Amino acid sequence: MALISDESLERVKQTADIVEVISAHTDLRRQGTRWVGLCPFHEERTPSFSVDAQEKLYHCFGCGVGGDTIKFVEEKEGLGFAEAVELLAERYGVELQREREDPRAEARRQQRRRLGELLDRTAGFYASYLWDSKEAGKARQYLEERGLGEEVLRAFGVGYAPSAWDKVLLLGQRAGFRVEELRAVGLAQKGRGGGEYDRFRSRIIFPIRDRRGRTLGFGGRAMRSDQGAKYVNTAETDFFHKSHMLYGIDLAKEAIAKAGRAVVVEGYTDVLALHQAGVEEAVGVMGTAITEEQVAALSGMVDEVVLALDADAAGQEAMLRAQRVASGRRMRLRVAAMPAGEDPAEMMAADGGAERFRTLVTDAVDLPAFQVGLVLERTDTSSPAERDRALEVEIAPILAGIGEGATQDDLVRQVAERFDMDPATVKGKVVAARPASGGSAQPGTRGNGAAVPPGRTRGAALTSRERRERALLAMCIALPTEGREYLSRLSDEHLSSSGARIAAWLREHPEDPASNLPHDDDELAGLIAELVILAHDEPASAEAMELNFLLLEQRRLEAEIAAAGERDDYERRATLSRERAALVERIAHTERVG
Ligand SMILES: [Zn+2]
Repeated sequence: MALISDESLERVKQTADIVEVISAHTDLRRQGTRWVGLCPFHEERTPSFSVDAQEKLYHCFGCGVGGDTIKFVEEKEGLGFAEAVELLAERYGVELQREREDPRAEARRQQRRRLGELLDRTAGFYASYLWDSKEAGKARQYLEERGLGEEVLRAFGVGYAPSAWDKVLLLGQRAGFRVEELRAVGLAQKGRGGGEYDRFRSRIIFPIRDRRGRTLGFGGRAMRSDQGAKYVNTAETDFFHKSHMLYGIDLAKEAIAKAGRAVVVEGYTDVLALHQAGVEEAVGVMGTAITEEQVAALSGMVDEVVLALDADAAGQEAMLRAQRVASGRRMRLRVAAMPAGEDPAEMMAADGGAERFRTLVTDAVDLPAFQVGLVLERTDTSSPAERDRALEVEIAPILAGIGEGATQDDLVRQVAERFDMDPATVKGKVVAARPASGGSAQPGTRGNGAAVPPGRTRGAALTSRERRERALLAMCIALPTEGREYLSRLSDEHLSSSGARIAAWLREHPEDPASNLPHDDDELAGLIAELVILAHDEPASAEAMELNFLLLEQRRLEAEIAAAGERDDYERRATLSRERAALVERIAHTERVG
């Protein structure tokens, strides 16, 4: 395949005038080192869109989009990467040179294709085994009893894994695949004795496919109670990350686009039962809570997501994180209150179940309101201490997470009434719960940019840890020498998942992180653009870096202490607590010096 040469690409980037390109879509005003204007990607009345003409990057502090000139053209003109480069080249008179592709990249793509074929073939084998083998009789019966018909089972490629130890291993090898390849896609695993065996045995198999219908992994449901875990999934591999996947998205995507919303359920059979009943915008999260990555994946497709999950059981932390991602992307998360002890699959199996489910979806309430409702319900309002605790620990973080606005005001009033408090007191707690800015060494305002009104920024929706880590990572860009040291001291345990990805990118591109933004990963490209812009106009100092690092270290240590406590490992907990005490002292000292 002929590719645009790196030199041409570089020339296009250098020549294209990002301010001019973007000015065709929104008015930009110069403000300090940046250009600012109303975001051309989301509705707003006060500008949160920023362009860095020198770094040739844009970023919206409101909706979080960002990238370089090429990315902007891709997004605004609906073009692919190469087409966007061609358009800019033509406009700015750059002649594009083409070259043959790097043979290693070609080899990697081929290997990926091979592994994809292996997964597809195996999915085909499992599916035919479900329908054709005697061994799978019990599985067929189970699925039938759950009310799932052959048509929907075949559409989703549901299958059965034989009880033999090595059936898939042998079939795969016979088809020309190596054992390492079977292991790379999570189909084979090493036993204690060192030999390889099939990961999935005697289980109903649900192929987990991406948006384009390619099988990337499997979920396997046990058929007997003595089989260990009820569900086993493909382990994390290079291309299977369960937390990023939505079960059934390949078959749901059209209905989702048409309905303008997605219905999110927990399990495989819930998705199947709903599709069978005509609720085709249903997808599964394969867990009790929706992950940040799943919210991000849906945010490109819809602006409303209805959770038919057990939102009561799901960890509040997980839901808070999902809510933060959603509000950052102008997406509504609503909760359909499922009756206790009944999942969608069971509901569909009963008479009139589909109708009842549709009503629940229509009546769904906003996630923050639902969560606040849960807290209000279980709080003993007669005890002032209990009320204070519920407000401070549970309610305030939820309300702070949704940002200021009519919804927040409504809920503040509701809580005030219920707790018999002054709304201003409730509001005060909410404001106090707002994630702090990136460390006390940082000034409270955003550099010289009055462009970002407080409370409306996406930054406000970040947790204090995320703000702290972003402040530190931005300083790693601003001060590259110190940056290298901190990047090597930071481990994934210090960082959120997005922070860890940014850090990995900065380690790989220490010289000039923004010159070659990843064009197959919008989210990462946006994050890098944001940080480079921040690095450009936020103050940075070695003291502030150290302080931010120590505060992240404290968070890490606290998580480890909690984990030791959960294991009842009191000795370890005591050791760690002593470490924490020393650390807290160091932090106090650093703060005094800084
Ligand atoms: Zn925006």
